[in-house]
Amino acid sequence: MANNQYDVVIVGGGISGTALLFMLSRYTNLKRIALIEKKEQVAAVNSHGRNNSQTLHCGDIETNYSLDKALQVQSSANMLVRYTEQFGNNGALLHKYSKMVLGVGHTECNALRERYTTFAPHYPGMQLLEKDEITHIEPNITKERKKEVVALGVLNDFSAVNFQQVATSFIHNTAQNKKCHTDVLLGTHIKKIQQQGDSFNLATSQGHINAKFVIVSAGGHSLLFAQQMGYGHEYACLPVAGSFYYIPQLLNGKVYTVQNPCLPFAAIHGDPDILVPNKTRLGPTALLLPMLERYNYHTIVDFFKVFNLDKAVLKTMWNLLKVRDVRRYLMKNILFEIPLIRRRLFLKDAQKIIPSLRLDDLSFASGIGGIRPVMIDKKKSELLLGEAKIDPGNGIIFNMTPSPGATSCLFNAEKDLHSIAAYLHCTVNTDAIQSELK
Ligand SMILES: Cc1cc2nc3c(=O)[nH]c(=O)nc-3n(C[C@H](O)[C@H](O)[C@H](O)COP(=O)(O)OP(=O)(O)OC[C@H]3O[C@@H](n4cnc5c(N)ncnc54)[C@H](O)[C@@H]3O)c2cc1C
Repeated sequence: MANNQYDVVIVGGGISGTALLFMLSRYTNLKRIALIEKKEQVAAVNSHGRNNSQTLHCGDIETNYSLDKALQVQSSANMLVRYTEQFGNNGALLHKYSKMVLGVGHTECNALRERYTTFAPHYPGMQLLEKDEITHIEPNITKERKKEVVALGVLNDFSAVNFQQVATSFIHNTAQNKKCHTDVLLGTHIKKIQQQGDSFNLATSQGHINAKFVIVSAGGHSLLFAQQMGYGHEYACLPVAGSFYYIPQLLNGKVYTVQNPCLPFAAIHGDPDILVPNKTRLGPTALLLPMLERYNYHTIVDFFKVFNLDKAVLKTMWNLLKVRDVRRYLMKNILFEIPLIRRRLFLKDAQKIIPSLRLDDLSFASGIGGIRPVMIDKKKSELLLGEAKIDPGNGIIFNMTPSPGATSCLFNAEKDLHSIAAYLHCTVNTDAIQSELK
């Protein structure tokens, strides 16, 4: 590395790291920024379309959100839509499919009718869909269905994202900007970060580099780096893996189901897979796995370093298992992974969306699905379900989990951009952010 001094170094080239690189290079007057990614391409881990549900979360069909949270999620999603309007969608980043959340049975249907009155004024495209209207859009939802059904739907909006393509586009548009020198170092592994006076020394697989400010957006590994530097010992990491099942293309758009309040984001949904034409994906399931990256068995050792099994972690696990719904859900999800029985068990859940689904339609999506690094707050003995970030205020920030996920990449990047600007006293072009992304 010829000149290894940077204003900012970003560790991790997922959607979070690449969004920040783009925003710093475009909207600040910083001169030298590097992004370091251990894989040979960006967004190869959780941000790859293979590993997530490819949903642009807008807060309209996610029933675990209050109106306030939904509107915040909506504005994060809008930033991504605005980005593609400004910098080119190329038909590859965002996709339009109908989307709906389905209520099944009297209680869920009533809850959705009520939700509609609160949410519709804020979501102009939202419709309350009765059975006949659902049949018109998604015939397989009502075929062979006996119970009452209603849906909240948005029929003509961007609902699916190829987050890996978005990350690639962030890198592409960063490179167009010649005022800021940016290095994207792929295939480069960060081994250790050390504070040295006012700056940070990063030991990489390609040599040492130096930065005035470091942002670590490396998923569960961010907590590992934080704890190695003496921060974040109040957290432990619980990796929750999601698996999927493939069925033929029996849905035309995204179909979510009503969430159980004890288990936010646990309800399965059906999505057209933008990477696999003519297939619908159902899932995700949720399985606690002892590794920080799915299918990367080298990360098992790292998991044990950040799991920090002690009394507080055990107490949190106990508190979780005390709740009947959580206990049953976790047990069911273990069974979902057992090859001989999983399809039969999953079929019952899947029939909530498509009652006429048959066992032969289902196949386990091997090698598909990532891991959410869910933080345990050891002081409170509870799970931290929103965004997980550690900011000691001394020029380094550790981002573990964006909330509600990849959708909020630009929203979160903007927050980090302001923290960096305040610390390094650089200029931010807030007018340009406003006019281009808001
Ligand atoms: C099953 C599932 C479904 C999901 N569905 C959705 C959805 O529909 N919509 C949505 O918005 N969100 C969804 N999410 C969440 C979303 O995928 C993640 O929040 C998002 O991808 C996280 O991005 P990230 O950049 O923070 O982390 P990642 O994408 O995991 O990137 C971290 C990067 O850090 C790199 N790295 C790690 N250690 C090092 C090191 N030592 N040196 C250098 N590089 C390193 C990794 O290689 C990786 O590229 C889903 C998640 C899961 C698991």
